[in-house]
Amino acid sequence: MFKGILIEKDESGYRAAVREIDESQLHEGNVTVRISHSTLNYKDGLAITGKGPVVRKFPMVPGIDLVGVVEESTHPEHKVGNRVLLNGWGVGEAHWGGLAQKARLNGDWLVPLPLNFSPQQAMAIGTAGYTAMLCVLALERHGVTPEHGEILVTGAAGGVGSVAVAVLAKLGYSVVAVTGRPQDAEYLKYLGATEVLERSLFSFPGKPLDKERWAGAVDVVGSHVLANVCAATKYRGVVTACGLAAGMDFPATVAPFILRGITLVGIDSVMCPRGDRLLAWQRLGTDLDIEKLGKISREVGLDEAIPLASSLLNGEVRGRVVVDVNK
Ligand code: NDP
Repeated sequence: MFKGILIEKDESGYRAAVREIDESQLHEGNVTVRISHSTLNYKDGLAITGKGPVVRKFPMVPGIDLVGVVEESTHPEHKVGNRVLLNGWGVGEAHWGGLAQKARLNGDWLVPLPLNFSPQQAMAIGTAGYTAMLCVLALERHGVTPEHGEILVTGAAGGVGSVAVAVLAKLGYSVVAVTGRPQDAEYLKYLGATEVLERSLFSFPGKPLDKERWAGAVDVVGSHVLANVCAATKYRGVVTACGLAAGMDFPATVAPFILRGITLVGIDSVMCPRGDRLLAWQRLGTDLDIEKLGKISREVGLDEAIPLASSLLNGEVRGRVVVDVNK
């Protein structure tokens, strides 16, 4: 038996609770991992609360991230005793995930735990931080350098936003943070933001084209915020879109694309190819300040993760939440 969060859905409703689970119920896979830590991402919040159609099979163990030690393996790369890391691949959605003490997985989904990070640090980064790095890599790939001007990060006090601010600042970019929590301005400046702007400046329908300001952007919010960010992006600037915290809609016009030649880059972490994942984790090892990572994250146990899921969706959780599954 092992302990984990189990999500069930039946005639009596949708519920998530910490349960003792029989190992024989684990899903199929060629590697069994003894998990030490997982995290709470926005998607885990949707899964635990049932506020978004994230879970595709019931019962489900949520948790799109995990880190642990290989306990059994028939996969050629992952030997018993190795430390491994997983982000995405539909785990915690269609395959039992990381918010438990054990998981059985397809070994192709696992990567070795990067040497620069402890299990806790890797989970303080988690999918949110690795996605932030995918956004930074996309900006670089499209030629955005610090000399081009300011980079805007929306939803900046959340998980993706916090890591994006810290990484971009360390790389020498001038970072402007957008937040709905002005009380967190000092936190965002500590992470490296040069200026902090109120979310309300971006939340309402705006002009098709606004004054050009941003050389690049990392948007986790979608909806009017993304449309307004595109409208104020400089000639040939680059906007990376990875999230929908404000909504899935994109009420924009083609004006910034056809008149200013801006590029909108979509970012997906779930099915991202292995090479890009390894590169993102390698770059996190060099371009994320470990001291700042300590300030971005806090640790909770499995029981606490359930109520925190609602707070996270309400935009009340700052930075990242690491879950010690043995606590
Ligand atoms: P968090 O909840 O940690 O952060 C989201 C932040 O968005 C909040 O902290 C808040 O920041 C802001 N926000 C929340 N609600 C609203 C709202 N109604 N309007 C405007 N801003 C809002 O989540 P994550 O950082 O983990 O994820 C952010 C987004 O990115 C989510 O939509 C998630 O699904 C997506 N995502 C996508 C991935 C991909 O592969 N494409 C991978 C990981 C995440 P503040 O208070 O500073 O304004």
